[in-house]
This record gives sequence, C-alpha cells and structure tokens, in this order.
Amino acid sequence: MPDYPQLDVIAVGAHPDDVEIACGGTLAKLVKQGYQVGIIDLTDGEPTPGSPGPEVRLAEAQAAAAALGVPVRVTLELPNRRLFDTFEARVLLAKEFRQYRPKIVIGFGDKTPMASPDHWQAMQITDAAVFYSRLTKWDEHFGGLPVHAIQSQLYFRLAFEPQTLGGFLNHFTVDIGETLEQKLASVRCYATQFPPGKAHVFERIRGAALLAGAAANFAAGEVFISTRPLGALDLVKTALPRLQAT
Ligand SMILES: [Zn+2]
Repeated sequence: MPDYPQLDVIAVGAHPDDVEIACGGTLAKLVKQGYQVGIIDLTDGEPTPGSPGPEVRLAEAQAAAAALGVPVRVTLELPNRRLFDTFEARVLLAKEFRQYRPKIVIGFGDKTPMASPDHWQAMQITDAAVFYSRLTKWDEHFGGLPVHAIQSQLYFRLAFEPQTLGGFLNHFTVDIGETLEQKLASVRCYATQFPPGKAHVFERIRGAALLAGAAANFAAGEVFISTRPLGALDLVKTALPRLQAT
C-alpha cells in the first residue's frame, strides 16, 4: 500500500494546469508557510491539440507541481472532455480524500462558459466527494478506508476577468505578491498547452493577479470563496492583514 501523508490542503482540478492558473500562487505560498499541500487532477487532460500524448502532459504536470514546491500530485483516470458527475467519479475522489485526509479542499466554484464543461462537472464531483469522505456504513464502496471529515471547502474561479463568484458572499483574497512568479513558472511548464503563439495567456494571468491583489491592497492576489462564513479571532488583523508591515 502506498504511503499517504496527511495533507493540510488539497486542490482539485479537472485537468493539469487548472489549479496552477486558478490558485498556483496560493499553493506555493502554503508550501512556503510549511503546510502539507497536494493536487488532484481528475483527468490527465488528454487529448489536446498541441500535445503528443499523455506521457508528455503528465511530465509537464509533475514539473509544474515541482515549480510550486507541491510534493503530492495525483492524476485520476477519469475521461477528459467527457467528465461527468457520476457515482463512480465521486467515490474515486472521495477515496483520495480518505487516504490523504485533507483539512481543506479547494476546487471549482463555477461554470466556465465557452471553455471546458468538465470544470462544472468537477465542481459537482468535488462537492459530493467532500461529503462522501465522511459517510459511515459504506464500506462496500470504500474498501474499508476509514472515514475522514473535511473541515473546510473553498472555491476558486478559473477566469481572467475580475474574480467574483455570483451567489456567494464569503470572498477573500490571498496575498500572492511573493509567489506570482512561481505561479507563472508553473504554468509555463505546460509547453504543449501554451506555445509561443499563446504567450498572451501569461499576461492575462499576471493581469488578473495584479487586479485581484490591488483590490485587497496586495501586490498580487488570488480570490477564493469559503462555502461557509469565515470567522475572525482578531477583527483588526482580519480587516487589516498588512498592519504589521506598514
Ligand atoms: Zn481545465
């Protein structure tokens, strides 16, 4: 049986490169802060027009995780382009949660119109898997894996325009001023997806981070939604996170 370190945070994407673009700066920051971080891709993202095959894409994904400093990356064998929220997909992801026992799961929180419909399915699968992870009396589906209760679920939005998610109130911005370049470096690992003809993508990712950061008084930022209201232990430190530095 492989070794499954307990992780503080798992970020779930439909395809390799989703989590890098959505929250790579935050994942790199979490690693620097000493947290145990992992990435789960529901599919290998193949086929795509510019890639010679899954082996190359998987190598890119491992290089991207290394660029962020993320030690654990799992690629599940669900089908790209025809990912659907099925019972089997939910259980497959929930098994990973039971093994890695994350405190926090981050994943899709929105549709991505005119981009892959897999993203919306990934949100449904992730929501369900967070719940399935803690359900008792279901050993026939989980092979005796102990249940695990995930304490917090966060959403990201995979888009370049200003990042707010309709229908959710609990937005917050993580300061990624010190890890924005790492985020961009991780996305550059996907050479088959972002060849020189798509260099504008990097400017858009940078632009989105600068805009999100500026709105929260950071050099760069990534926006998240907490699926439950967030508490504050210290109103001043929550309202003015940069107070110590100014
Ligand atoms: Zn994607």
